[in-house]
Amino acid sequence: MKSSDTPIVKDLVLVGGGHSHVTVLKRFGMKPMPGVRLTLICRDAHTPYSGMLPGYVAGHYDYDQAHIDLGALARFANARFYHSTVTKLDLAEKKVICDNRPPVPFDLLSINTGSTPNTDHVPGATGNVVPVKPINQFLDRWEALSARAMETEAPMKIAVVGAGAGGVEITLAIQYRLGQMRKAAGRDASDIEFHLFSGSAEILPTHNAKVRKTFVETLAKRGVVTHLGEAIVQVAPGKLRSAGGGELEPDEILWVTAAGAPAWPAEAGLSVDEGGFIRVEDTLQSVTHPEVFAAGDVASMINHPRPKSGVFAVRQGKPLERNLRRMLLGKTPVPFKPQEKFLGLISTGDKYAIASRSEWSVRGRAVWQWKDWIDRRFMDKYNDLPDMDEEEASDIPSGLASADVVKEISAIAMRCGGCGAKVGATVLTRALSELRPAPRGDVLIGLHEPDDAAVVEVPANRLMVHTVDYFRAMVDDPYVFGKIAANHSLGDIYAMGAEPQSALAIATVPFGIESKVEDTLTQMMSGAMEILNDAHCALVGGHTSEGPELSLGFAVNGLIEREKIMRKGGLRPGDKLIVTKPIGTGTLFAADMRHKAKGRWIAAALDHMAMSNRKGAQCLIEHGSQAATDITGFGLLGHLVEMVRASGVDVELDLNAVPLMDGASETVKAGIVSSLQPQNVRLRRAVANQEEAGKDPRYPLIYDPQTAGGLLASVPGDRAEACVAALKALGYERTMIVGEVLEQSDRLEPITVRI
Ligand SMILES: Cc1cc2nc3c(=O)[nH]c(=O)nc-3n(C[C@H](O)[C@H](O)[C@H](O)COP(=O)(O)OP(=O)(O)OC[C@H]3O[C@@H](n4cnc5c(N)ncnc54)[C@H](O)[C@@H]3O)c2cc1C
Repeated sequence: MKSSDTPIVKDLVLVGGGHSHVTVLKRFGMKPMPGVRLTLICRDAHTPYSGMLPGYVAGHYDYDQAHIDLGALARFANARFYHSTVTKLDLAEKKVICDNRPPVPFDLLSINTGSTPNTDHVPGATGNVVPVKPINQFLDRWEALSARAMETEAPMKIAVVGAGAGGVEITLAIQYRLGQMRKAAGRDASDIEFHLFSGSAEILPTHNAKVRKTFVETLAKRGVVTHLGEAIVQVAPGKLRSAGGGELEPDEILWVTAAGAPAWPAEAGLSVDEGGFIRVEDTLQSVTHPEVFAAGDVASMINHPRPKSGVFAVRQGKPLERNLRRMLLGKTPVPFKPQEKFLGLISTGDKYAIASRSEWSVRGRAVWQWKDWIDRRFMDKYNDLPDMDEEEASDIPSGLASADVVKEISAIAMRCGGCGAKVGATVLTRALSELRPAPRGDVLIGLHEPDDAAVVEVPANRLMVHTVDYFRAMVDDPYVFGKIAANHSLGDIYAMGAEPQSALAIATVPFGIESKVEDTLTQMMSGAMEILNDAHCALVGGHTSEGPELSLGFAVNGLIEREKIMRKGGLRPGDKLIVTKPIGTGTLFAADMRHKAKGRWIAAALDHMAMSNRKGAQCLIEHGSQAATDITGFGLLGHLVEMVRASGVDVELDLNAVPLMDGASETVKAGIVSSLQPQNVRLRRAVANQEEAGKDPRYPLIYDPQTAGGLLASVPGDRAEACVAALKALGYERTMIVGEVLEQSDRLEPITVRI
């Protein structure tokens, strides 16, 4: 996580990682604005580039070539990336409401969330058709459809509803790809029928007559049945009915009709057009709410209506960025007039394309190559990001802060250390007021009735288990970081077989004006509280100060019966070793800091890290586990060495079975490891066959330090398979048996790594 000593003064929140916002992010990355905190909230970690989508479906591009990695781009822009879906706006309170996290406050908001084909207006369509957007959901369905087309021996019928550029292109791309796949498998593709439905009397209604004629001929030549003037009026599972009464029973119905708008902008009170799209001025500001900007499909320029197309969204990027900066500085935004004519490039799936602009058009394989060159050049701008120098503390630009805020910033600069670094009482009270710690009868004095210290009761016949952990944020999202920090801290309690009882928090939040400090603290503690409450662990107090970096830790107390303590020394010959979560956080976050990790790898890693070990520990106990530890800073091997030495046994570790996080092998192969790794590697002396094992490129991962890692435990050999099945059913999907416990040999090195 980049840190800067410049206090945060304003929050610019970007909702949606569409074609305009990627330009905004890139340009803010190239030219940061001191004092402005950027936050990107997006449903997807990788956003598809519309121009390459049909080529991706046709098999000409792989996933990474056709998608912009928003995680990496956000990191380049020094923006916080919140992987969430926006469901509402509270414009009065200036807050964005998301599906899976606390509200996100903004000073300036920009919306670029695209559109989805409307299914509401046709009875039965919702749920029975596959809309082409959200594209990532469509692409999942496309994978399933192509798998089905390869498995089935029966003839298939695929219907595409909507014959604009998107519908025509996707039909031809799918047909081409399925044909190629079947051909490669030595099969015939002619038993897959394609039906293209158009409500209007023509296909491609926004294109010139020559282009339409070319595509009518191409579709006919390729055997696509075109149903013109046949608007679909009713859908049932596997069934379509058109206005003329015609019926079809397709195996899959793809929906590529006119763009529809999300409901939440109108529900929030933003002025929208008849289609529900946000009405914006020439400055791209909402006509009713000047602090809200919108661009791309979701926006409707009242003075310059244009078709919903990626081309316009891309072109709005630069003026949007310029006007966001101007607004932040208190300057008047400048108007922008979109071009009227644009170059349309439509492909036919087989590396052939037609270019058109107004009445002009040209076609051929060379046109496809030209389109391919344009698209790749565009993508390179976002996926090959330059290295930038670390941001230095800089002066807040004039105009960004009001006179009161300037005074507040001067006070921050003069703040003392010691107790002076404590976050002010009002901020703390406000931030903590929304938190509801788990109520427990054995907490006598806690947050509900604050005093100088908390008082908790230790029930009769129970022992108290203590542990503490504290670390710097490895992610820019304080809410997710709060969850991970709490999870990590609870790990030791579960590994002892204990039940968490109470926790004290120690937090550091970056310097900033009060409202920004309060938001960071609220987000972080809300995440932590969710995890603590789920563990029925009461947060009873803590200490918060300001500092250069976001950090959080917990001192956690747990309760246990004396005879149920799970020690590291409980490994027995014949036991199997089980790991409940995949390995790889050290290398992945080291790669993320260098902009070398893909957004989806980090998103998946964060999901694993946010998963509690509570149920896992319980399950292991129920399957007879006598020894467990949570895998953290020493890595898998370090923690295994501790267990092996304490138990007086040997073990065989099967490297092929060790579950790895997505991307971890790639980043380790690229030589990227955590700064803690060299210390962990010193433990290689415990490995009998280190020279042979070291040849395996995955070998360094057993030394990879973990944050909020899973449990490493042993269970009796005859119960191991059942235990793994139960753990998987509880959501620990990557659980694996990774080795077995052997009698102690007379070798000095107790661990053999099988490769
Ligand atoms: C098959 C097909 C082919 C096409 N081909 C072309 C083409 O060749 N050229 C062209 O110019 N246009 C093409 N289009 C049209 C083009 O896809 C859209 O006009 C374009 O994607 C709109 O861009 P945008 O920036 O507005 O939003 P999008 O590119 O749709 O991006 C929206 C972003 O917002 C995110 N998002 C959405 N809702 C939320 C939410 N509630 N909360 C958080 N995040 C959210 C999404 O995850 C996504 O990252 C095609 C369309 C289709 C269907």
